[in-house]
Amino acid sequence: MKYYIGIDIGGTAIKSGIVSEVGKILLTEITEAYFDNYKTPLWETTLKATKNIFEKSKELDLKIEGIGFSVTGDVDTNENVIVGGCGSIPKWENINIQKDLDAYLGVALKISTVNDANSAAIAERWQGSAKGFDDVIVYTIGTGIGGGIFVNGKILNGSRGFAGNIGHMVIADGKDKCPCGNTGCFEKMASTRNIVKHCVEKGLDINGKELFDVSNDNIIAKAIVEEFFNYHGIAIGNLIHIFNPKAIVIGGGISNQGQWFIDRIKESAKLHTLPHFFDGVEFKQAKLTNDAGLVGAVKYYIDKMEK
Ligand SMILES: [Zn+2]
Repeated sequence: MKYYIGIDIGGTAIKSGIVSEVGKILLTEITEAYFDNYKTPLWETTLKATKNIFEKSKELDLKIEGIGFSVTGDVDTNENVIVGGCGSIPKWENINIQKDLDAYLGVALKISTVNDANSAAIAERWQGSAKGFDDVIVYTIGTGIGGGIFVNGKILNGSRGFAGNIGHMVIADGKDKCPCGNTGCFEKMASTRNIVKHCVEKGLDINGKELFDVSNDNIIAKAIVEEFFNYHGIAIGNLIHIFNPKAIVIGGGISNQGQWFIDRIKESAKLHTLPHFFDGVEFKQAKLTNDAGLVGAVKYYIDKMEK
């Protein structure tokens, strides 16, 4: 059996773990990343967490084949360099992961890097609802909207590893300006954070879950929920026309409301897709776990470095 280290770098915590070639997790650790408001840079905390789990692997007498990193923000997967794209994290750019890691650990381990939305999607296809589909789109609704697109059984990387960033697809004539320069980006219109923001702007102080709970009785909530499903339908229609997937898998806390939620998105997508494109596309709820980031990072490593 081969073993790998997975490191999932998030804005508030770093999850690290040892994962086998069949995706079994032997050990995980969580390291707080935001404990001093980033006075300790996120990258420094990541290096410490990586060294820590590497030491643990030695204690367990496990030979580590390599390390897969899942990175918040944008990472150049060819060069293994963090490019940025995450305005809320200071000094999160121009980081050469391999170079820094070699110096810090004192040994040269092979690594791969992938952005966090892609790694979550890869885990979902390895072990979750997207399993068995060669052409499938997995996306997560949360603070933003991120995704992974699989074509012919492979994650679509694009030229530098940025592909699948469906949150910046323009789907409406919106008001909020996005850092990408557009208004009307999918995540600005229909992420959990932004629909809650739209509620607050209309005088409804409520969280994402409550919004759906009251949407039958409250006229403002009802309108926002209708709009939410409409936006997801438009976005999925775009994706189906471009990529012709066999399945759409939807994750994120807000999707945990049961099958009716997925069915509503499906109904809306049908209104925005040519019938013969829509026929046979399966809509599923993701089964993503908290460990999806590090598991997906390891799977990306195996597929990239060993196949
Ligand atoms: Zn945008």
